[in-house]
Amino acid sequence: MEPVIVIGAGLAGCEAAWQLAQRGIPVELHEMKPRKKTPAHHSDDFGELVCSNSLRSDQLENAVGLLKEELRRLGSLILRCADEHRVEAGGALAVDRHAFSGAITRAVKEHPLITVVEGEVTEIPAEGNVIVASGPLTSEALSERIKAFFPESRYLNFYDAAAPLVTFESVDMTSAWFASRYDKGTPDYINCPLTEEEYDAFWTELCAAQEAEVHGFEDKQVFEGCMPVEVMARRGKQTLCYGPLKPRGLKDPKTGKEPFAVVQLRKDNAEGSIYNLVGFQTHLKWPEQRRVFSMIPALRSAEFVRYGVMHRNTYLDSPRMLDRYYRVKHEPRVCFAGQITGVEGYVESTASGFLAAVELARRLQGKPPVDFPQETAVGALALYISNETVGDFQPMNVNFGIIPPLGYKVKGKRNKNAELSRRALEILDKLDPAEL
Ligand code: FAD
Repeated sequence: MEPVIVIGAGLAGCEAAWQLAQRGIPVELHEMKPRKKTPAHHSDDFGELVCSNSLRSDQLENAVGLLKEELRRLGSLILRCADEHRVEAGGALAVDRHAFSGAITRAVKEHPLITVVEGEVTEIPAEGNVIVASGPLTSEALSERIKAFFPESRYLNFYDAAAPLVTFESVDMTSAWFASRYDKGTPDYINCPLTEEEYDAFWTELCAAQEAEVHGFEDKQVFEGCMPVEVMARRGKQTLCYGPLKPRGLKDPKTGKEPFAVVQLRKDNAEGSIYNLVGFQTHLKWPEQRRVFSMIPALRSAEFVRYGVMHRNTYLDSPRMLDRYYRVKHEPRVCFAGQITGVEGYVESTASGFLAAVELARRLQGKPPVDFPQETAVGALALYISNETVGDFQPMNVNFGIIPPLGYKVKGKRNKNAELSRRALEILDKLDPAEL
């Protein structure tokens, strides 16, 4: 059998390659790292997390928690590696990013049916079955070819940003403390308090700090889910206090009271030697990041091991271009998977790679598609991005709004969400694993 060509060994590409290979389909996985790297990729490993090390909530009352649980039950490689390399993060699934990517890389490289081909792909292959999973920062040459592949349609952009990382050693723990919000679960976060005076000074400088230039992207569209902290700050003095600096449920043990504002730091590796500033994705110039973020008392002498950066993030106008199996409508031998399809987030990118591969494998084996129903998060996401009635298409995280309602009343939002998850998992569990 001719191998399926998968372009990009990110979260979606690795998941897709693995699922195809597990079903006996040979794969050629093309990755331009380490020869060439996008501005957000730093490591040579596959499945690199370009910003936060959190795969977000792991609770079934949350749609991304449901999506994770579905992927676990469906045998996802990415979820297996995440579970194996998780670090404590309250109700979220956060991972040691290096161990996580290392495990993905080993699994993919050691699979007898996957051949890794190093180097940039600059064309969509003219023949054969292809999954393009080159991500939101697809290299320029391939990006141009993708544009030409869809002459009628729009190829869209938005800004995305990553948060800085600091060493644990350099955090002043005399003015910070470990706790999770409302003391739920283990005390996984470092909480850095600010008094009202300190917050005022910090906010003033943050609003006025110099931003780095971004070239070739003049229509500054900002995606709400990953908004730079300085952009959020400029919306009003209190905005951050209801967002990333929210003090609710965080009592400073020194005073027994909630401070005026709190910056939270989350563990970024298993050893706990590196922490990220939660919600501090930023576009400020690097010296400005050091100057302004060092105004947070516990970060006065912080050592930044990586500064926040901002990038162009490219995606297809999928409702007009792709079907529910992530296949190109006018040329179904080509599928797209990952963030480039307009699904937003690590887990969502993984889910699209999973579904595209499972459906492609079935097609190659002469079987009908599975048609994951809309009641499941995996199915709902694919149906959303291929829904032609969606006009102004924006990248979207999985959410319960794209899953059909229960049809009966359940008291309380959390209970209702838990019930939606229960229904989804029940449907999924009825699928015959041998058939997938
Ligand atoms: P990627 O993981 O980017 O993988 C694509 C791979 O393709 C890369 O390895 C790349 O080197 C390779 N490649 C690119 N072009 C070529 C080519 N021409 N030939 C061969 N290989 C190629 N999501 C979250 O859930 N949380 C976050 O904190 C978060 N932060 C983000 C920050 C930034 C700056 C960006 C851009 C995105 C962020 N996202 C975040 C969104 C998204 O979840 C990630 O981008 C995710 O990695 C997407 O997975 P993917 O598999 O689609 O692409």
